[in-house]
Amino acid sequence: MGSVSIVGAGPGDPELLTIKAMRRIQTADVILYDRLVNEAILSYGKPEALRIYVGKAPGHHSMPQEAIEKLIIKYASAGNHVVRLKGGDPYVFGRGGEEALAVAAAGIDYEVIPGITSAIGAAASAGIPLTHRGLAASFAIVTGSRCHDQASAAHWEALVHSVDTLVIYMGVSTLSDIRQQLLKFGKNPATPAALIENGTTARERTVTGTLGNMDKLAAALKISNPALIIIGESVAVRDQLLGLQKGIHSQIG
Ligand code: SAH
Repeated sequence: MGSVSIVGAGPGDPELLTIKAMRRIQTADVILYDRLVNEAILSYGKPEALRIYVGKAPGHHSMPQEAIEKLIIKYASAGNHVVRLKGGDPYVFGRGGEEALAVAAAGIDYEVIPGITSAIGAAASAGIPLTHRGLAASFAIVTGSRCHDQASAAHWEALVHSVDTLVIYMGVSTLSDIRQQLLKFGKNPATPAALIENGTTARERTVTGTLGNMDKLAAALKISNPALIIIGESVAVRDQLLGLQKGIHSQIG
């Protein structure tokens, strides 16, 4: 009997892998990886390791979740060390919990190795503290993919009243609905907001604006997946930092 490591690959920059994740990748016989996993990370595996893409592009479910779980179990049952490599953290919108349940139910040895979730990675890389003394004492990670039903309205209302910084995953395509919901429940349209595309990678793009204009900004700049939306007063710290850096450069120059 083999074993399974459900591993977080971090937010994009390969150097943000944990040492433990790196070690498991280096010794894996089979690596099943997602769309958001940086390809550079796959090169750390043994040359002979089997690398299988099981990713899903938005709107195109290339492999059903059940089929992925069957594959993991099939390779592990054949005696392999299987690494199930997922973008960010496996337990943050990664369906890692379902995979752990499936593997455990099959009686296979498994472990879960956390990764830096994209909210944490991208915020740090963009100069946005998710909490900041005097500006934000709490943050929530939420999905923007379901924002139409009744339950979801209550959910947005509660968030507006109870959380300082909102980090929205999978929200680019529903951005104007999210904006509407937040405004409807009383969020100030002048609240600073940021969009971060491909956070922590060489292709990172970050733009800042306000809750009121962020859907127009996203459309104008053609922000596409993977991208995060951060809404909250502490987003303004990014511009303060950039201003200070400019000051330093002009002093040096
Ligand atoms: N398990 C992952 C999230 C998977 S859901 C994690 O912990 O980060 C996929 C969503 O994550 C994307 O739609 C996007 O909103 C976000 N995401 C993942 N990587 C990202 C990156 N490098 N930059 C910006 N957003 C990212």
